[in-house]
Amino acid sequence: MEFVISKRGKKMLIFESKFKYVFGYTSQTNVTRWRCFMKNCPAIILEKEKVLLETKGDHGDNCSVKNIDRQKLATTCKRKAVEDICQRPRKIILGEIQLLNLYNISPNNWNNCFLGEINAFGVSSTMTRNDISALRKCVYRARRQFLPTNPTCIADIHSAVSSVNTLTTNDEEFLLLNDDISNIIIFSCNTNLKM
Ligand SMILES: [Zn+2]
Repeated sequence: MEFVISKRGKKMLIFESKFKYVFGYTSQTNVTRWRCFMKNCPAIILEKEKVLLETKGDHGDNCSVKNIDRQKLATTCKRKAVEDICQRPRKIILGEIQLLNLYNISPNNWNNCFLGEINAFGVSSTMTRNDISALRKCVYRARRQFLPTNPTCIADIHSAVSSVNTLTTNDEEFLLLNDDISNIIIFSCNTNLKM
């Protein structure tokens, strides 16, 4: 029997390396009932003193840890990539892998993530270099939908600059000049120039 501590500090049981169970209760005869961590899944395990007594109920299609965590990982990474546009995708992804994982990975070991050798259970153990590269593409795509496309010529830059909000937090114009003939763009506001 394999037990892990979830990131919320709860003890969980891992079965067949891919199903997570949460603690139900322990009977007076010391039999512990564990239920699948997926809501509405009927699968349960009865265990006594770390020995498997019985499994009951079949898992649904989404119960396997690998699938769930990957899906979760992609969703969270995309959200974070848009929320924090300055953070490098690799750092976001590895940070999330670390959070999702039930074991601790020190940042010094991050490089190992690419080799899929972090531990025997969880996302990173099943994440290959290809998985991470697919995730990075996913993150970049999410960002591209949110950010304007990169300009391909000087005219694009002038029109991009004129189409975005260039007011300061004090509602003062910060775009002093956007001259598409001499190709000069000046950012400053009157308050700053007076100083
Ligand atoms: Zn299940």
